[in-house]
Amino acid sequence: MAWSGPEDMTSLSKVYLVGAGPGAPDLLTLRAVNLLRRADVVFYDALVHLDTLALAEHAEKVAVGKRCGKHSTAQRFINKRLIDAVRRYRVVVRLKGGDPMLFGRAQEEIDALTAAGVAFDVVPGITAAQAASAELGISLTQRGVARSVVLTTPRIGVDEIASDWAAGIDAGNTVVIYMGAGKAGEVAEKLLSRGVTGATPAIIIENATLPNRRETWCVLGTLEQTARRKVDGPALIIIGRVLDKVSKVSNAAQKVVKILQA
Ligand code: SAH
Repeated sequence: MAWSGPEDMTSLSKVYLVGAGPGAPDLLTLRAVNLLRRADVVFYDALVHLDTLALAEHAEKVAVGKRCGKHSTAQRFINKRLIDAVRRYRVVVRLKGGDPMLFGRAQEEIDALTAAGVAFDVVPGITAAQAASAELGISLTQRGVARSVVLTTPRIGVDEIASDWAAGIDAGNTVVIYMGAGKAGEVAEKLLSRGVTGATPAIIIENATLPNRRETWCVLGTLEQTARRKVDGPALIIIGRVLDKVSKVSNAAQKVVKILQA
């Protein structure tokens, strides 16, 4: 029998939290494409590519990208709009960059939908860390080098209680920092204080999978300085020995590596 997706995909009114992937519109799951084609309304985030949105040919499209500083109010408003929409439409898509369950405030939406008795499904997407790893041709869990990957962010939301984003990290981890380019100094300081050496390779990747993609190599010891130049678009910082491809590190950074290693 041909695969037809989740059983109730065609019956009930539902909200689908769909991962739009890291940027390139052809990095969507087939399930995401099928849902977008059937969508009656799509609430989408700022990072979603226009070609991805265009797949939702028949849908009303509503931008709900949040503005900095207004996060919690905006989030409550989005929750309400999703609940209202399911009463009027059958296929309500909430389209989020990357994977909806990673740094995407999906839980608030799921909790609000659950409290309102609204059915929902989550369609996973390719998260930025996976896209960056693929593009670099570097496994984040290279055998004998790193046994674990930490996806973390130094960013604290307006209504969030601060906790230690670097808890448990040591030199054996590959660390992938989301929403951290503006806090590179804090990131470096924290990891250095946890015993990760300044010579550990690091990279800033902007606009992964998109034509304006840019990668800047450095080491943990020069990360703050490297991140001072203008970062344009969404950016990830990856730090860890799996990146140990010194040939790709700039001359300046190589000198620092030598000094730090001496
Ligand atoms: N749910 C998303 C993350 C949302 S938070 C996911 O799974 O990827 C937004 C952050 O994700 C950005 O600040 C950036 O750190 C990262 N990001 C998203 N898309 C990116 C891209 N194309 N290139 C680099 N970083 C990206």
